[in-house]
Amino acid sequence: MKNRNEPSFRESVDLMFNRAVALMDLPPGLEEKIRVCNATYTVRFGVRLRGDIKTFTGYRSVHSEHMEPVKGGIRFAPSVNQDEVEALAALMTYKCALVEAPFGGSKGGLCIDPREYEEYELEQITRRFAYELAKRDLIHPSQNVPAPDMGTGEREMAWIADQYARMNTTDINARACVTGKPLNSGGISGRVEATGRGVQYALQEFFRDKRDMAKAGLEGSLDGKRIIVQGLGNVGYHAAKFLSEEDGARVIGIVEWDGGLFNASGLDVDGVRHWIMQNGGVKGYPDATYMENGAVLLEEECDILIPAALEGVINLSNAAKVKAPLIIEAANGPVTAGADDILREKGTVIIPDMYANAGGVTVSYFEWVKNLSHIRFGRMQRRQEEARHQLVIDELANLEQVMAGQWEMSAGFKDKYLKGAGELELVRSGLDDTMRIAYQSMRDVWHSRDDVDDLRTAAYLVSIGKVAQSYRAKGL
Ligand code: NAD
Repeated sequence: MKNRNEPSFRESVDLMFNRAVALMDLPPGLEEKIRVCNATYTVRFGVRLRGDIKTFTGYRSVHSEHMEPVKGGIRFAPSVNQDEVEALAALMTYKCALVEAPFGGSKGGLCIDPREYEEYELEQITRRFAYELAKRDLIHPSQNVPAPDMGTGEREMAWIADQYARMNTTDINARACVTGKPLNSGGISGRVEATGRGVQYALQEFFRDKRDMAKAGLEGSLDGKRIIVQGLGNVGYHAAKFLSEEDGARVIGIVEWDGGLFNASGLDVDGVRHWIMQNGGVKGYPDATYMENGAVLLEEECDILIPAALEGVINLSNAAKVKAPLIIEAANGPVTAGADDILREKGTVIIPDMYANAGGVTVSYFEWVKNLSHIRFGRMQRRQEEARHQLVIDELANLEQVMAGQWEMSAGFKDKYLKGAGELELVRSGLDDTMRIAYQSMRDVWHSRDDVDDLRTAAYLVSIGKVAQSYRAKGL
């Protein structure tokens, strides 16, 4: 239930921004320039469907052009509105600056419930929306590059890329007009999983530092930690899957649009995902307790809470009841400004959205670079790397013979060492590096400044500082 004192999503982002700039020494004019959204384009277009003309409303908002192209996903949801799109565009500016992706911030949205349409109808609608945006350079390889967000994925990105290519037949860089495409349309390995993978890397980095764990009253490692995740879509599913399969965490709760599942001994993430695919929701899943009001699980006892669905789900009405000592904001804006105050007061550690879900834009950046360079990562060096490794293996094999049973290579070493890095390995390595470095930049501020007691403020300080530097370099 929304509290009347709750600010809107965009106001929430602005309040958090203001809290950070109050600790900075920026000229007031520059502060204002960074905060405001440069432009929002609203389009209403008609599509003939089922014998009728149906009118759709869409938005593309450009928050900051201190770097171009600007970048940000396109969301398909019935609740899309200008305030939300502008808030998300602002977050994109700060996110790109924090992870050093060379883009300004943008975001788009279409007011539509994709579940109400057949695939061929959605294609018609998406292509028409893309046409409206591309004709105004709001989709363009060097001006504005969208990506997937809630309600959209590889399929929609492929339609958008094709629509742009049809309108710009001689543009050799046409494929770089959008990211998150399928591999066969110019996509990159590891993009679909990227945001969830980034959440995993973020948590791994958190658990590398005892000081950080101590702030949340946690210890040890991710192994055995109890996780509750809201939203088992692209981001939530991949994060929950990797954390449970690779780090030994236990996913005890999953909240979806139609309710929540709880099992203290751990849920089978793939099993639940499969159930949702077959049945449309979590209701009826056999190996868990089902509750119709899934949101109560946000208040359940656990070690890590991962909101990965919508904004504003942790708000003035439930923040005080949230028990998780660590929240990682996989979704954009899941904690309102008011809830953030309450949680900080309680000592809850929040890994903020602008950092936590930056894995998506990071790998989108790699995809954009791949499209502009027209070559798959690893294509030139992989075999050469393997040949050099073979030399070492041959030498070690000689040594094994000389040592005659006294020494031998450990099991599996040869195969692992021989394998040169392909695109997926390089993408994961680049993503891991990005997530670690960005986290460390926030952590440094968090631990070194007495006036900063949370990671969100630290993240804003780092990113606003970078955007400000960029504006200053342009003479503003
Ligand atoms: P998605 O559409 O793939 O998944 C969203 C999931 O949330 C779906 O399973 C949906 O059923 C569920 N959901 C909807 N309403 C719900 C409710 N009331 N309670 C619980 N669950 C509900 O979307 P996504 O791409 O995973 O995006 C999720 C969040 O992550 C959004 O905030 C988005 O902006 C953010 N994000 C996504 C990406 C990306 O690469 N896809 C990148 C950065 C940030």
